[in-house]
Amino acid sequence: MRYSNYFIPTVKETPADAEVVSHQLMLRAGMVRKLAAGIYNYLPLGLRSIRKVENIVREEMNRAGAIEILMPSVVPAELWQESERWEQYGKELLRFKDRKDAQFCLGPTHEEVVTDLVRREIKSYRQMPINLYQIQSKFRDEIRPRFGLMRGREFIMKDAYSFDVDEKAADSSYDKMYQAYRRIFERCGLKFRAVEADTGSIGGSSSHEFMVLADSGEDAIVSCSACEYAANVEKAEARPIEAGEHADARALERVATPEKRTIEEVSEFLGVHAAAMIKTLVLLADNEPVVALVRGDHELNEIKLKNFLHCTELEMANDEVVTKVTGAPVGFAGPVGLTVKIVADLAVKGMKNAATGGNEKDLHLKNVNLERDFTVSQFADIRNVVHGDACPRCKDGVMEMWRGIEVGHVFKLGTKYSKALKATFLDADGKDQTIFMGCYGIGIGRTVAACIEQNNDANGIIFPLPIAPFHCIISALNIKEAPVREASELIYQQLVEAGVEVLLDDRDERPGFKFKDADLIGIPLRIVVGSKNLAEGNVELKERKSGEVSLLPIAEAVERVTVAVATALARI
Ligand code: ATP
Ligand code: MG
Repeated sequence: MRYSNYFIPTVKETPADAEVVSHQLMLRAGMVRKLAAGIYNYLPLGLRSIRKVENIVREEMNRAGAIEILMPSVVPAELWQESERWEQYGKELLRFKDRKDAQFCLGPTHEEVVTDLVRREIKSYRQMPINLYQIQSKFRDEIRPRFGLMRGREFIMKDAYSFDVDEKAADSSYDKMYQAYRRIFERCGLKFRAVEADTGSIGGSSSHEFMVLADSGEDAIVSCSACEYAANVEKAEARPIEAGEHADARALERVATPEKRTIEEVSEFLGVHAAAMIKTLVLLADNEPVVALVRGDHELNEIKLKNFLHCTELEMANDEVVTKVTGAPVGFAGPVGLTVKIVADLAVKGMKNAATGGNEKDLHLKNVNLERDFTVSQFADIRNVVHGDACPRCKDGVMEMWRGIEVGHVFKLGTKYSKALKATFLDADGKDQTIFMGCYGIGIGRTVAACIEQNNDANGIIFPLPIAPFHCIISALNIKEAPVREASELIYQQLVEAGVEVLLDDRDERPGFKFKDADLIGIPLRIVVGSKNLAEGNVELKERKSGEVSLLPIAEAVERVTVAVATALARI
């Protein structure tokens, strides 16, 4: 490809509305352009990287025995009504009507469509296992589209769905996908972790997320310093904290705490450590008030509480409800004397002589003790794990926290969708059985963005070779000089013939300008052809990542690039 008649609209300035580095760099490198909130044009460089990720995904899906299909993105409402997700999915589902007034949605995920296909075509145990996948544009009307391709509204996803005769077979399909995902993200050159995850609205019994480690990641994940345990904080189990030394229960005290509402304010005012306080939160679970108690230095995990309560909606109560439940304005809630359901975190169980709100304006209580002063309806693990917590699985480790970007997600679905859509088959005994399913997603654009998030410096992107838009760029320093032009063309031809993807910078521009663009767009290998070195028969070969420069005869430079590309692309 010749730069002079290609389409790479690079930009010098950092775009003001791009918060994370990958978004900034994708705009500056001319990879994408925004059309509307969360909706992007993919320009040639962006598209080339996206296609590379797609091809790695495709190869690994095929290798794992999955079969590619392509489903429509416009989906009739009836299928979503059958699974009851038409109502449950909320505003992320973009619904519309056709000219005959029939309702449709733009598919945000395709469990319904694929299950409908399978229930019509798969009738016998002999036709399973089968795993169908597609690579397709999805639409989710995200409340806050941001970070460029990381959280778009229209985005490309690979989604795969497995169908099996029973749970054991479904587990084995899941394991195959899990392994395929590891290979995919390794081949993309990413530093990642597979973590246990909550199953969210898609449902199902267990799932793992594949997280690219990056400080800008939206997800908090924890992993054990000693064993394999790793999980999303949404799901991470907390090891129950052993009760401390057996202090005697002291007499309850009422303390005036004028205008002291937050844990920090009260803890400072009373001179009590946050860990010796009980945080009292009023929530609405399907519109019923419920009180959650956690230790003052802990955070409530709403997902754990929601799962524990088996409710569909859980939200923090507004001031009016708080006042109704506690009899006090916000900031003075405590468990003593409450009549609503109270769920307490396991860490609250061992607390003695705690400080907490007094359910009156400007009042807190000291020396509050369980049983004597208040009771709890149920105890459960409802808090976020924090850095340094003991590992819930092994004896030796402590939990470490990381930020991550979720690039892939694998779910065991069980029979959730096959039951709802009556996808059944005849087993070996001729009996009707329900199909076991799994579903497996990868965000293609998000993977490219996450990769840039992990691989960049002050000058721009540093693509790992397997997903770089081009492997090599030839910077011809003064294209008007015949020897430079001829040598650059020769190198270009030889590399193309060797199967290397080359961008020849044949623009009539200053060297510094060309180098800036080359660094910005992140091409892993650069050959610099300039008249001075050429007079000795040499060119410069520079590695974007290490910055290493070698002065080499032309043939050797071509050979080095060819070998480097072949090595990097060799399958793991
Ligand atoms: P998130 O929690 O980030 O919203 P999700 O759990 O909704 O993700 P899934 O339904 O599991 O995502 O979708 C599969 C994959 O699709 C995700 O792992 C992610 O890589 C990608 N993905 C999901 N939503 C978006 C989006 N808005 N923009 C880009 N990629 C996305
Ligand atoms: Mg989502």
